[in-house]
Amino acid sequence: MAADIYTMGVDLGSTASKCLILKNGTEIAATSTVGAGAGTSGPDRAVAAALAQAGLVRGDIARVTATGYGRNSFEGADDIVSELSCHAIGAHAVFPQARTVLDIGGQDAKVLRLDGNGRLQNFVMNDKCAAGTGRFLDVMARVLELDVSELGARDALAEETIAISSTCTVFAESEVISQLARRADINALVRGIHDSVAVRTASLVRRLGLEEPLAMTGGVARNSGVVRALTQALGTVPLISPLCQLNGAYGAAIHASKKSKE
Ligand code: ADP
Repeated sequence: MAADIYTMGVDLGSTASKCLILKNGTEIAATSTVGAGAGTSGPDRAVAAALAQAGLVRGDIARVTATGYGRNSFEGADDIVSELSCHAIGAHAVFPQARTVLDIGGQDAKVLRLDGNGRLQNFVMNDKCAAGTGRFLDVMARVLELDVSELGARDALAEETIAISSTCTVFAESEVISQLARRADINALVRGIHDSVAVRTASLVRRLGLEEPLAMTGGVARNSGVVRALTQALGTVPLISPLCQLNGAYGAAIHASKKSKE
């Protein structure tokens, strides 16, 4: 019997480092997400955690593909592949029917158009403004003394919405601080914050044109409040997998597996 082939995808994001190990190109052997991105110890810690989870050492990995914002700074990659390519590969593997992929990460948001074979046909991106990205949510969570992982539950508990009128993250932060000083309801503020992210993101999706089904990837897809607001803003329920934040790493590991067979 042939020995198992392990490949690794490493996604060095702006905010989080993700690593995924694939066995024989299809079976997920391990995943890890570390809340520290490119330029920190995050990537190395993510790799070490995934190897430990799979019970492997670096020498057991046949091929490594790096992607993400800090992909060029990763030592030990056999291939370096753009985020757009890896997100397209990952999303198509999880949801082959998806025609539009919305990825919201810590520092940017991108919308990809895929054809029926998962090939990237077109994309639009916001990497100029923090509004409509994970950074906006991270800033607001800090002001509200919440963890980003709590925002979804707070949104679900809200009985009303306090709309955030500023689109600029810095001004919106001041707006939330002044609302807090007036003892505004935190859950209603969280809902307003999610609506604000959804309005920005929905206009990015419309710039490319929404072809359904829509899949959502990136760490912000873990926030059920943003998903609620986007579903309302776009009029469609996005497909989201539990691997959403690992989508780029998944695509990278699939890429590494294909390369190892060549
Ligand atoms: P990047 O690749 O740019 O580092 P990610 O796709 O990893 O970004 O997404 C990071 C963002 O995901 C954070 O800014 C945060 O807002 C959001 N996020 C991370 N973990 C969670 C969680 N448990 N619940 C809700 N949101 C989360």
